[in-house]
Amino acid sequence: MADTHTGTCFCGALEIEATGTPLEMGYCHCNSCRSYSGAPVMAFTLWKAESVRVTRGAELIGRFNKTGISDRQHCTKCGGHLMTDHPTFGLVDVCASALPSVAFKPSVHLHYAETVLPIRDGLPKLKDFPAEVGGSGELIPE
Ligand SMILES: [Zn+2]
Ligand SMILES: [Zn+2]
Repeated sequence: MADTHTGTCFCGALEIEATGTPLEMGYCHCNSCRSYSGAPVMAFTLWKAESVRVTRGAELIGRFNKTGISDRQHCTKCGGHLMTDHPTFGLVDVCASALPSVAFKPSVHLHYAETVLPIRDGLPKLKDFPAEVGGSGELIPE
């Protein structure tokens, strides 16, 4: 049986469930994530869209899609961030903090060219994002 992970927003009104294991985990340093979250870096867990579902409070989801690629979702009651849909790729990024039972094992840093908080942890640092999803795939120094 596949692992099932449950998580909620800050106030708990919204609940999500993710099944299996993330395809990828890491950090995003981009301006958009920083500006949206108010944090210097965003920790993400990347899933296939069909692995993640909203199990409570779907009517409370607020969406904001600035770029056409990333449909950012938060709770309209508490403002807590939950996830970002990437419908063109069939993928969804769930904030690592929203799924506490997933052991967070980062493997990559994205958009490191935009970093304001360099993290020297020896993990690969991509200038933007992987070539398989339309990025440059270019590595840059820590
Ligand atoms: Zn909430
Ligand atoms: Zn980002």
